[in-house]
Amino acid sequence: MIDTVERRPWPGYVAKVSAVLVIMLGAIVLLGWIVKSPPLIQLLPNLPPMTRNAALCFGLCGAALLTLVIDGPRWVVFLCAGSVAFVSLTTIIEIVFRVDAGIDELLGSSFISVNLRSPGRMAPLTAVCFAFSSVALMLVPRPFTIASSLLVGLSGSIVTAFGAAAVVGYWGGVTLAALHTSFGLVILGVGMLALAWRVEGHPMPTPPWLPLSIVIAVLTGIVGLWRALILGGYAPFSILPTVVLVVGCVIGPIFGLTVFLAQRGHAQAAALRRSETFLQEAQHLSRTGSFSWDVSTDIVTFSAQAHRIYEFDPGPISFASIARMTHTDDMLLFLDMASRARRGEDLDEEYRLCMGDQSVKHLHLVAHQCGANENFEYIGAIQDITDRRLSEEALDQVRSELARVARMTSLGTLTASIAHEVNQPLAGIVTNAGTCLRMLASDSPNVEGARETAKRTIRDANRASEVIKRLRALFVKNAANNELVDLSEATREVAVLLSNELQRSQVLLRTKLADALPPVLGDRVQLQQVIMNLLMNASDAMASVDDRPRQLVITTTRDDDNSVRLTVEDVGVGFLPDEANRLFEAFYTTKNRGMGIGLSVSRSIVERHNGRLWAVPNSGPGATFSFAIPLSTESPLGVGGGVGDGVTRGPNRQHAAGNHDD
Ligand code: ADP
Repeated sequence: MIDTVERRPWPGYVAKVSAVLVIMLGAIVLLGWIVKSPPLIQLLPNLPPMTRNAALCFGLCGAALLTLVIDGPRWVVFLCAGSVAFVSLTTIIEIVFRVDAGIDELLGSSFISVNLRSPGRMAPLTAVCFAFSSVALMLVPRPFTIASSLLVGLSGSIVTAFGAAAVVGYWGGVTLAALHTSFGLVILGVGMLALAWRVEGHPMPTPPWLPLSIVIAVLTGIVGLWRALILGGYAPFSILPTVVLVVGCVIGPIFGLTVFLAQRGHAQAAALRRSETFLQEAQHLSRTGSFSWDVSTDIVTFSAQAHRIYEFDPGPISFASIARMTHTDDMLLFLDMASRARRGEDLDEEYRLCMGDQSVKHLHLVAHQCGANENFEYIGAIQDITDRRLSEEALDQVRSELARVARMTSLGTLTASIAHEVNQPLAGIVTNAGTCLRMLASDSPNVEGARETAKRTIRDANRASEVIKRLRALFVKNAANNELVDLSEATREVAVLLSNELQRSQVLLRTKLADALPPVLGDRVQLQQVIMNLLMNASDAMASVDDRPRQLVITTTRDDDNSVRLTVEDVGVGFLPDEANRLFEAFYTTKNRGMGIGLSVSRSIVERHNGRLWAVPNSGPGATFSFAIPLSTESPLGVGGGVGDGVTRGPNRQHAAGNHDD
């Protein structure tokens, strides 16, 4: 239950009116005592007077109540209610222990002769009522709490019931207190009840003290009736008074219990409604719907948000209608999911819907089995992640643009290597063409030799064109491909392309490339881009190394977990272990002319291939960068293929998002 409370306005008005009436009552009677006016003190000559102490207590209790209602200063409440508590409790002590503490003469000696023994001392019932009221009022905290409303409510019911009993007592000829004191107590009690009623706690619309106060009221009424019967001439425990007493004692708690149960039922219903509203609001905000699926009957129940996601009209949903909405490219995945669910497996998948207007929605589904045996049910949640997917796709597009920019920037560095690569076959062509001419120009032309040289010319021209083709593939904007890539072969090509550049930087490249490495499915150019980036970084890291050979080892192996791994190990400046993840952050660079996107782009490329890329510092100098790509027959680049297409299946995404420290 929430302990902070709201306030209803109307009980506040009632409490204010009661407080003012009680203050006025006390003031009038005190005035009566001062001006010695019996009608104000005892109303009629045959009635007992309201004592000066009681009048004072009314005034002070009223002031305390009013201060609480108007949120006045706490010290006023303490002062007023504290004084009343002192007077009433001392009176009770005097009565119980039959002592005279002088409380009767607090406001001067009595001058009027009436039928009460001690005109200055309050009647026991009055003292008890004031004790309850003053202590309860003193204990009310600010802000109001449910507990304080309980305390004030119960005290208010007791005071009202006692006051009412005293009023009723007059008609039975029983004098429990002065008549206007009795009325005053009823008004004070009602004021306190109103103060308590003002406090509204969730989810209970009626005050929690209501059942108890009903029990008190019924019991007080029954005791009053019992007393009246006795005064009417019945013996206290003769049949009628006993029956009244017993029935009252049974009925009172039954009434209270009934109200309590009604209250609890209402509170539970309200709490349920409230939590349902919370849930619906949360589902709406997070675009997550929930569902249950009875596997044996294929009956599916959707939450309101799930209806919205599927754009279904409210009402029962069949499994077939859900299947119909599934994107055709994801149908196999969906059917596989359904059959796994029937076997009782937990589900965590992403799939797509094709809506009526041909738009595509991306959903993430998580579900697990509830219940045992054949009659189990699936409970799950579906989240609409279309926006996230679209922004990921946009991000991927930007990334692939960045990758292209990164490739272009390395073009400058590679100019010398490219020139060398192309120059060699060109020089070969020129030499062969010259030889060919010479062979044909002689008196007895060497046709056979000329043919051979022409063939060599063609071979060199092809080699040059191969180099150009490779370069074009690396630097021209191409859509991503899905092909079988031999990582060793791809590495060899990059090594050839970079060999001159590495030589120029005095880097000794050692390759340990596994033969017959199983191919991985992916984009050859993108993977070569990653290898090139790792090699260039390693070479840069060794640029300042002069005290040892700048050795660079590149290795490809097959891992035990059915993946292939490529490792680039250098002896460069290395990095600190806790920097391992920062290196992969976009725009993190320690180089003067670096852009800091190479590694972040490389990681995203590797992750798109469902693999992972990580770095560890060597135990000696330098660092080792590795990536591993699983051997898979399923297209890693998803439906439609490219890095920019961004469609990747659930489990794969989880894998890709894993920790990259090794
Ligand atoms: P750039 O090369 O433009 O700085 P990268 O993303 O490729 O961008 O690299 C980011 C940073 O990672 C580099 O600036 C460097 O500090 C660090 N780094 C990369 N490779 C290595 C390596 N082999 N040894 C040590 N540090 C490296």
